[in-house]
Amino acid sequence: MIHDDDILVYRLSAGCDLSDVEEGKVYTGKVQGFATFGMFVQLNERIKGLVHKSNMKAEHKEKDNVLVRVRQIRPNGNIDLEEQVIQVYQVQVVERTSNTVRIADLSSKVGRSIAIEGEVSQIKQTSGPTIFTVVDESGTQNVAAFVEAGVRAFPEVELGNIVRVIGEVMMRNNQLQIEADIITALSGDEETKVRTRIEIALDARAEPENILPLVKSDVLDSLRPEMQKVAKIIRRAVFTAQPIILRHHADADGICSAVAIEQAVVSLIKESGGDYDADYFLFKRAPSKAPFYEIEDITRDLDFSLKDHARYGQKMPLVILTDNGSTEEDEASYKIASVYDLPFIVIDHHHPDATIDKYLVAHVNPYHVGGDFGITAGMLGTEVARLINPKVEPIIRHLPAIAAVGDRSEAPERALYLALISDQYSEQACKDIALALDYEQFWLRFNDGREIVKDILNLLGMPERHAKLVKLLVEGANTMIEDQMSACMPHVVPRVLSNDAHLFLIDVEIHAHKFTFPPPGKTSGEVHDRLCRQNVGKPVVTIGFGPDFAVLRSRGVLMNIPRMVRELHNEIPGGGISGGGHLVVGSIKFVEGMRSIVLEALIKKISEAPVQT
Ligand code: MN
Repeated sequence: MIHDDDILVYRLSAGCDLSDVEEGKVYTGKVQGFATFGMFVQLNERIKGLVHKSNMKAEHKEKDNVLVRVRQIRPNGNIDLEEQVIQVYQVQVVERTSNTVRIADLSSKVGRSIAIEGEVSQIKQTSGPTIFTVVDESGTQNVAAFVEAGVRAFPEVELGNIVRVIGEVMMRNNQLQIEADIITALSGDEETKVRTRIEIALDARAEPENILPLVKSDVLDSLRPEMQKVAKIIRRAVFTAQPIILRHHADADGICSAVAIEQAVVSLIKESGGDYDADYFLFKRAPSKAPFYEIEDITRDLDFSLKDHARYGQKMPLVILTDNGSTEEDEASYKIASVYDLPFIVIDHHHPDATIDKYLVAHVNPYHVGGDFGITAGMLGTEVARLINPKVEPIIRHLPAIAAVGDRSEAPERALYLALISDQYSEQACKDIALALDYEQFWLRFNDGREIVKDILNLLGMPERHAKLVKLLVEGANTMIEDQMSACMPHVVPRVLSNDAHLFLIDVEIHAHKFTFPPPGKTSGEVHDRLCRQNVGKPVVTIGFGPDFAVLRSRGVLMNIPRMVRELHNEIPGGGISGGGHLVVGSIKFVEGMRSIVLEALIKKISEAPVQT
């Protein structure tokens, strides 16, 4: 029997949180446990309060049903309760009044108390509050929680948890921040529900726009599904505040590919919120010294990532390799990375070895679809960047042309990309920029030169400074190249092979300046270019060698350098042979004492290669 004058008692349903609790009202509860100063009563699975012993009306044991009145909700979220004894009452169920806000909508809620639900993507302890980075389907938000200076708030909340945050939206240093009253790690059905909701929405949000390549190209068209897959993985990493490490070959093509992606990723990080300097600590670009991802690289990347994970509660990163990564030479590093389950994406145009695909989550390579190295990494990187964030297209559309001339592409796409930007950049201007990049990277050594490189590539909207800088770098580079050529060209030793290939040998160790620009690989390339001009219409192979290495370049001789290196490795025991590269441009390493044997065997293989007439 319910009478009109019955006292109303409320029961919180499972979904309710602190914001559904009202001071003064009476709720049904269950005794959870006891302390010397009173007993804890749960109002639902998640919300509990304290009945001070002075407010207890009877003796209880755990799991007893009790009625409690909410005396006070403290600023820290603690609830003070008072036991009630009521004989006749009516129960009304409180459904959750959802005040959950999407992160993207927080800017209109400044000064208001709200709730957000999402995944914890970083937990950073400062000397003041603990900063939780929370990601939902719409964005990234920092949440500050404070117990005591430098003390970890809500220690039960861990990286990767799905949480509900209740707090106030504030502006701090021009940035939105939530000051949390309470952070609850969700569990069971509730966790699954939120996780599924976020997952579905993130998956849709990460899906790249369906846009065509900048130029008409069968190879690029065929690569589109894989490029979209890559773009989606990268977009998802950005939306979930996963750090990204971008490693690239340290030449003009590698830099162009990496910078295109850098522009897309950094702008997307800025759009999706988070810290004002998130684009610096969530994104790192670094050149690889070797023409592959060597053990030194993975060791550094792992070292920093593990420290950031331990110190700043960051997720482990997504690693992207451009203009590197497709070959067996990278395998040793992938093996190390796989111990930590690091996901790898490769965007490369080196001849791929199928054995490495098991280490990669995605792999864009023109050889997979019948193309070749003429589709440069800079072209691929730029097309992927447009899929990651189409907004950056106007500032990066000249990068493929620079990459094409930098890597001496002879694919039809080279002319198309050059034509695309011919109103702003001549072919010579592109060559100058490519040379300036190579020269500057030499002085940058292991550094990425993030801002200088932007000037060289004219990404900052300061064309005069760009022109000044490129002019100076080109002059510097050319002077040093001329010095190098005048020293080494007289020492070139010519030979004509049985297949009529014109072979030229140059010992760059003793007939070129060392530890300076141009380094041995580029020195050999410059020598080769000059010899090609002197031997028009003839097949030309140039070998620049040092004590324990040789760099090969060819025109009109159809070699397969990676295969030759593998064969030599098997045929010359004790040669210590390794290496690779492109089919007709590459390098080989060996032990010094075996140099003449290895070089002669190499030359024999070159003499057996077919020549183009
Ligand atoms: Mn390249």
